[in-house]
Amino acid sequence: YVSADPINDVQAEVKEWAGEKKIEIESLKKQELFRREFLSNVSHEFKTPLFAIQGYIEMLHDCITDDPEQAKHFLNKADKNVERLSYLINDLESISKLESGEISMNYEKFDIVLLAKETLTHLEDNALKKKIKLQIQDKYTTPAIVLADKEKIRTVLINLIQNSIKYGRENGTTDIKIFELHDQYLIEITDNGIGIEEKHLIRLFERFYRVDSHRSREVGGTGLGLAIVKHILEAHEQTISVRSTPYIGTTFAFTLHRVK
Ligand code: ADP
Repeated sequence: YVSADPINDVQAEVKEWAGEKKIEIESLKKQELFRREFLSNVSHEFKTPLFAIQGYIEMLHDCITDDPEQAKHFLNKADKNVERLSYLINDLESISKLESGEISMNYEKFDIVLLAKETLTHLEDNALKKKIKLQIQDKYTTPAIVLADKEKIRTVLINLIQNSIKYGRENGTTDIKIFELHDQYLIEITDNGIGIEEKHLIRLFERFYRVDSHRSREVGGTGLGLAIVKHILEAHEQTISVRSTPYIGTTFAFTLHRVK
């Protein structure tokens, strides 16, 4: 190949190379910003329960001899915050493994209706505390076989159903519906709880994004549940979506690969 315009060719090549480098640097900068933001989020998340524990221990010192009842109350409060820290560590571990691609998916064939029923039974006591009814339609008589990582999908279901309880109303309901599509199943989890304003929906799956941080902490949230759910479904090359109306309720819907 003999070029008619060698100098221009070289210039074009250099330009292209510089363009590529620029994109690379931009993406490294973005990653760095992301990491810094993540670290500052994480330390903030740790500080809140740690400071609380510190405070309760101080108050314990003051009342342990004169007021054992009060002391017990502070101990319980400290305990709750220790629990929060351990949830946080667990979720952080999951998310960092998922993000680094360190864990591979263990694909197997299983019945998604059965798994949904198992998960509902597992969370029944939790729901009972708020008198929330967990239900799945009885019409699913034939098995709905999917190809996916069963334990990870169990985590997806647990996180979504737990949210429907945490942000659900007393005496409310959580409904699970499973629809057969062409080569997928669509799984919908619907609650009639507090709902989410539209402006929040787009950021809902980001790590540590919460509509109401106070409420999330109050109900034992880490702010990582939906980010974990999204990562798991992305690793399966499947999707999740959400629709919601404030004060009416919320539906999360995700797909799984259907085995015909
Ligand atoms: P958290 O641990 O705070 O629950 P998630 O990542 O699971 O974190 O959810 C992020 C936020 O999305 C929650 O803090 C809450 O504001 C909102 N959210 C999630 N699920 C629901 C739901 N079913 N109804 C209303 N709000 C919800």
